Amino acid sequence: MSKPKVAFYWCASCGGCEETVVDLAEDILGVVEKVDIVLWPVAMDFKYKDVQAMADKSIFATLLNGAIRSSEQEEMAGLLRRKSQYLIAYGSCAHLGGIPSLANQFEREQILKFNYEDAPTVVNEAKVRPQLKFEENGRHPHLPELRNVVRSLDQVVDVDFYIPGCPPTPNLTKAAFAALLSGQIPPKGAVLAPDTALCEECSRKASKPSDIAFTEFKRTHQKLLDPAKCFLAQGVVCMGPATRSGCGAQCTEGNMPCTGCFGPTSRVRDQGAKILSSLCANIEAKDEAGINQVLEGIPDPVGTFYRYGLAKSLLRRKVNLSANRVPSSK
Ligand code: SF4
Ligand code: SF4
Repeated sequence: MSKPKVAFYWCASCGGCEETVVDLAEDILGVVEKVDIVLWPVAMDFKYKDVQAMADKSIFATLLNGAIRSSEQEEMAGLLRRKSQYLIAYGSCAHLGGIPSLANQFEREQILKFNYEDAPTVVNEAKVRPQLKFEENGRHPHLPELRNVVRSLDQVVDVDFYIPGCPPTPNLTKAAFAALLSGQIPPKGAVLAPDTALCEECSRKASKPSDIAFTEFKRTHQKLLDPAKCFLAQGVVCMGPATRSGCGAQCTEGNMPCTGCFGPTSRVRDQGAKILSSLCANIEAKDEAGINQVLEGIPDPVGTFYRYGLAKSLLRRKVNLSANRVPSSK
């Protein structure tokens, strides 16, 4: 009997999600025993035409990590959607836009100009930029186009499930495989992790303040951190109250606050706004100057509150209205 076919693919990704598959260690043998891996560019050589030649829906499940930034990634997302029964957004970048979507604070032109002209390490007097098409020895290669915004996978194609995390844990990955392969298919759109806030599984929960008045915020390198006390009680921003659990609270166990990579629970529309409103409501100062002084302890609010989810947030991207044009949603 033929085994279910599984594909792994990466788009705008750092490779960390691919590492999680490797981190399954010997458990990967159990997975490989039960499935045929038909696409995994990071580990094996497959060509675009191999995927194109597959029958539609012939792949049982595709785990796609990384956000969608380029025309090529958009095309692969569409192709793999067509070829797969289940398309799974794997990791924060595919789930919510992830760290790559912090680039949505800038226009594409700003990014290209900085990287190819203005960055202190760049030497490019002719101001050469990547060419989408060029001719070389009679060949006409072309490069993917950088889209104007970074998108999550479900902002481009229909997604069946989400496995959260930056990267997802091997345990969640194993559980997802076990559920799918045993025929226990989760409801469409499910995030395959518990629907409770991280504080529920954090060992510091007992010291989480129910009533607090923040007089300052400190970053982790500015303070000797108590390894047992809730970070909020120490005046350090922790995204735990606005973040889905399921990671085993690995960061807080390692004496680092949660940075929010599992995204919000189903009851939270905007993860950043949720934590921002609760922190700001508890600042002791009530006058503007006093509030601003406390907020100086959070020098990068977007990077703090929307580190993994800017693409899916209510803010989504910066729009340059002064350019007097209709902004592209791509
Ligand atoms: S979710 Fe995290 S680990 Fe995975 S590709 Fe994105 S940045 Fe890397
Ligand atoms: S340290 Fe963070 S995750 Fe843990 S209880 Fe406090 S706020 Fe919640």
